[in-house]
Amino acid sequence: MLVVKIGGAAGIDYTPLCANIAELHAAGERIVLVHGGSDGANQLGMRLDHPPRFVSAPSGHVSRYTDRQTLEIFMMATALLNRQLVEQLAGLGLPALGLSGLDGGLLRGRRKDTIRIVEDGRQRILRDDWTGTAHTVNTPLLTTLLDAGYLPVIAPLAVSAHGEALNIDADRGAALLAGALGAAALVLLTNVPGLLRDVYDPTALITHIPAAELEQFQPLAHGRMKKKLLGAAEAIQGGVPQVVLADGRRQQPLSRALRGEGTVIA
Ligand code: ADP
Repeated sequence: MLVVKIGGAAGIDYTPLCANIAELHAAGERIVLVHGGSDGANQLGMRLDHPPRFVSAPSGHVSRYTDRQTLEIFMMATALLNRQLVEQLAGLGLPALGLSGLDGGLLRGRRKDTIRIVEDGRQRILRDDWTGTAHTVNTPLLTTLLDAGYLPVIAPLAVSAHGEALNIDADRGAALLAGALGAAALVLLTNVPGLLRDVYDPTALITHIPAAELEQFQPLAHGRMKKKLLGAAEAIQGGVPQVVLADGRRQQPLSRALRGEGTVIA
């Protein structure tokens, strides 16, 4: 059982990944594919005259402000990517089944109903935020689909206790799924070769991190890479024996990641 997450960054061609999934699926591997979508949501937001807005927390951490309209744009953008992935996999003869974490209570989450931001040097509270953190997986639903031979393709949304849709982080969502499904590995595919000692030097790859030492590597990660390491830590805590951060832009990205090409956290 493998959980694979592919980023939504611009310029990623999903063809090699889909072909590689087809090979592993034919060899009997059970796979759940999770995808991102923030880049598509940013682009769609611009086209719909609702460009992304980024806010800074008092800690200095920058995040996207997801008001209701942004959430709806995120739903549209991730739905499109979900259907495109399902279409590509279907073209290879695979029984891909597109879902989001919202469907059938697949991912239950907690809404961050207020966020504290710093604007013009002053702190403010924002209340209309639709992001959250998933905490529970509807494992029987996924097991039923996997047992029936389907290949679930999951968009990063969750449902709150009040039935609201939430935008969740796809890396952390994939980590939660990997733990719940007892996956042998979580593979996080992105647009870099793995965790780099220097973001500007693709040859400065960290190839192996013992799970117990993951914390020490956090200072190397900036921006979105922080969420990947957090997801990796959560997957390990959830019982996943190995997490691989690897390049999604090359041929056979999944098989190569499983052979250890990338950053292996175990
Ligand atoms: P995805 O859409 O695949 O989830 P992101 O763009 O969100 O990917 O995150 C990957 C990005 O993280 C890289 O493109 C890189 O710019 C950034 N990054 C920050 N720190 C590091 C690091 N130490 N090593 C590698 N990438 C890093």
